[in-house]
Amino acid sequence: MPELELKTSEKLYKEALSLLPGGVSSPVRAVKPFPFYAARARGSRIFDVDGNEYIDYCMGYGPLILGHAHPAVEEAVRTQLEKGWLFGTPHELELKLAKKIVRHYKSIEMVRFVNSGTEATMSAIRLARGFTGREKILKVEGGFHGAHDAVLVRAGSAATAVPASKGIPKGVIENTLQVPFNDVEALSEVVERNRDELAAFILEPVLGNVGLILPEEGYLEEVRKITAENDVLLIFDEIITGFRLGMGGAQERFGVRPDITTLGKVVGGGFPLGVVGARREIMEHMAPAGDVYQAGTFNGNPISLCAGLAAVETLEREKIHTKLEKLGDELVRALEDIISDRKLGGVSISGIASMFQIFFGQFDGRPPRNYEEALKCDKEKYLELFWRMLRRGVFLPPSQFETCFISAAHSDEDIETTIEAYDRSLA
Ligand SMILES: *Cc1c(COP(=O)(O)O)cnc(C)c1O
Repeated sequence: MPELELKTSEKLYKEALSLLPGGVSSPVRAVKPFPFYAARARGSRIFDVDGNEYIDYCMGYGPLILGHAHPAVEEAVRTQLEKGWLFGTPHELELKLAKKIVRHYKSIEMVRFVNSGTEATMSAIRLARGFTGREKILKVEGGFHGAHDAVLVRAGSAATAVPASKGIPKGVIENTLQVPFNDVEALSEVVERNRDELAAFILEPVLGNVGLILPEEGYLEEVRKITAENDVLLIFDEIITGFRLGMGGAQERFGVRPDITTLGKVVGGGFPLGVVGARREIMEHMAPAGDVYQAGTFNGNPISLCAGLAAVETLEREKIHTKLEKLGDELVRALEDIISDRKLGGVSISGIASMFQIFFGQFDGRPPRNYEEALKCDKEKYLELFWRMLRRGVFLPPSQFETCFISAAHSDEDIETTIEAYDRSLA
């Protein structure tokens, strides 16, 4: 295996350890024994400070569906920079991007622009509570909705709920119930038992933060039915899947309409942006139209909006999802072949559209169907795969519990190189 020269990265990380907790700005980046330091990135490639070049499947953890530094986004941002980057007063880009979102998401009639996915789910939950007048929310075990108090709960039933972090008041966690993914019976039981107190069920329609876990046939339809019958709002957290599984996200792909949607990542074209969207009746409860407070200095800032608009227009114009489906299928099929050819009994692969992940675990011949199974997968083996792939010039997200992303910038050649790297690395 080729050796990797990472001296400068190692040196920078040592220094960072004295300046940033754990040496990083967000936990997953603290790869053991040390992460590489990025110098620049373009297209499907990211370059480190020691001069190494990698084909990138981390892609900023999801936003960069067009690849790094896409010219259409770059051009939009440059043009906007000349006009100014913060106004503190309404501007036309808000209408332009809102119209695009409303067009592609039938469940959405109005939007609020915020600055991150975390802010979007935080605001969506407050909106659901304000709209229904109820306090409890329900989420999926292993479902990730950002880094705010209400959603940082460990797996476990309501009675045994444990915060996933220090610093979270018990009272907050007690209002967050959890159910396993792909379990209709558990859902219907919890929803019926708590219906008078439950404001909303929030879930990622495709779990993208415990590796990649797909909804089983009919699950999302049942989710919609159970929540509707019990008068509980359904929030789809489409921060990964929105504009990724197709222009209309998971709700279009699976034909299931939520009450509230959160978007992020792709919708910002690689700049910080979050969106809360719903039908008018719900959205008009948000301030200043209604009395659910939500505000932000950088909400709807013109740089994020013009980048997002350029990205969405490019996705529309160039029919990028069709190409991504093809590359995704090809890669997943090749990985399945590698697994069977090399008789890797304990390995499974999960994939949809331009998302995929290998699991070092296998359950009756399939990848995990919920968090409990995902936890049984071998994280150490995955980290070993991460380093083997990196030495062969392929940058995967550095955790078994993340998802790989293909972008429009990945060429057929990139995919071939990647398949070969997997084949050797899994040997
Ligand atoms: C990334 C992510 C978030 C949080 O978004 P940030 O922009 O990182 O705050 C929320 N939900 C899901 C499903 C995500 O993947």
